[in-house]
Amino acid sequence: MNIFNEQEQERIREAVAAAERSTSGEIRICVERTCKGPAMERAISYFNKLGMAKTKLRNGVLIYLSTEDHHFAIIGDMGIDKVVPPNFWDSTKEAMLTHFRKDELVAGLEKGIHLAGEQLKKYFPNLSDDVDELSNEIAYGEEN
Ligand code: CA
Ligand code: CA
Repeated sequence: MNIFNEQEQERIREAVAAAERSTSGEIRICVERTCKGPAMERAISYFNKLGMAKTKLRNGVLIYLSTEDHHFAIIGDMGIDKVVPPNFWDSTKEAMLTHFRKDELVAGLEKGIHLAGEQLKKYFPNLSDDVDELSNEIAYGEEN
């Protein structure tokens, strides 16, 4: 059984599509049930496995979440890392945490996607010839 049902997947897919309308950045969600090892390491590993370093402007963002033990991490590619302040993602993570603490996983992800999109558009405004470089579908990790 999938972690998220069809309706929940649709909400997440739509949140990603909406965020990407105002930025050339690409946001991807990766979930699995449990996180083996530090969330940041898992996130980096999936970032690479999903080919997220292949965007033209190197502006892919991955939000990783383990749904049962509630670990999560947000990472941005080097194009983003170069231009943003070091605490760039902290407020986004805080906002997501308030939902995760109430077990509102989809709402937390939607919030994170929305805020990441807001921040991305400051540095990477949408281009008229924008291409959807990374799928808006949820990626499922190995621990499912
Ligand atoms: Ca795009
Ligand atoms: Ca996309």
